[in-house]
Amino acid sequence: MKMNTFKWLARLCLGRALALMLAGGPPFCAQAEEPANGELKETSLELLSDRALTPLGKAALSIRSGEWKHAESANFVYHFFHGFIAGPVAVEAEFYYRVIAREMEKDTTQWERKCHIYVFEEAADWAEFQKRGALDPWTGGIHAAGSLFIQRDPQARFKGGTLGHEVAHLVVERFFGTGVPLWLNEGYAEYAAARCYAAFHRARGYAARPTTRPVPEGMYLPVGQLTALLSYPEDVAQVQVFYMESERLVRFLSAADKRGFGIFFDAVAKGARFETALAKGFGGRFMHLEALDREFRSYAIHEIAAPNTN
Ligand SMILES: [Zn+2]
Repeated sequence: MKMNTFKWLARLCLGRALALMLAGGPPFCAQAEEPANGELKETSLELLSDRALTPLGKAALSIRSGEWKHAESANFVYHFFHGFIAGPVAVEAEFYYRVIAREMEKDTTQWERKCHIYVFEEAADWAEFQKRGALDPWTGGIHAAGSLFIQRDPQARFKGGTLGHEVAHLVVERFFGTGVPLWLNEGYAEYAAARCYAAFHRARGYAARPTTRPVPEGMYLPVGQLTALLSYPEDVAQVQVFYMESERLVRFLSAADKRGFGIFFDAVAKGARFETALAKGFGGRFMHLEALDREFRSYAIHEIAAPNTN
């Protein structure tokens, strides 16, 4: 799930704003091939190669039911209102899918079923979808049962990281299953989305860099508490912090040892406790949870200056 970025940023601008920070890491997205920029060929719902709609997908299509259009690309099926909105979504979705799967060292060629992406435009339609789907009001996009639901503002020049975030969830669920804890799922999605979004735009001539936000010091959650959360915090301000700190923890562990992070991720996805997976992935690098927490806290609450990863 992804928070509504506009509301999120509006919140961040209140009081002492939390500056959007530049950060980076190993340039995994820089190796990506340039995606084809072809136009989507519109077709009918009946002629799609994959017509398996989830209950939430049916709920989406019940809004303005006569106006949805349909198309597909190599790995995705699209439901949308305007081709000029869906075309760029398709280019981005295929790009993100490929680079995130490659980063996680997963072979996607055997996964034949396509993922459905529902592209809303109007805020009122998205609000209606949130209502029908019983979603949290702060939801800006969602991955559910292998389908993605996003809102794209036709007026916005830069569309934000929501699509990359949800594609990261898709890749994680496809190749690691549903056992990935909430903090790791959201933290990884934020981390991957920021890096791929920047890479996607760098490939098109923009001086884009991944962004990462420091956690407000007074709202820092010890790692033991963060990683034990089974659901999103009730308080919306704490939901923001939950996303920010989860992203920072993924970034921190990945920077400590990228290969070790992969082993750690796999172990956690298979049911290992946090500390067991930590020992598997990082050996004696972190002696115990308290040692990790001391080191990570400083990393989490400070701004990070990072070079452009291109
Ligand atoms: Zn999410």
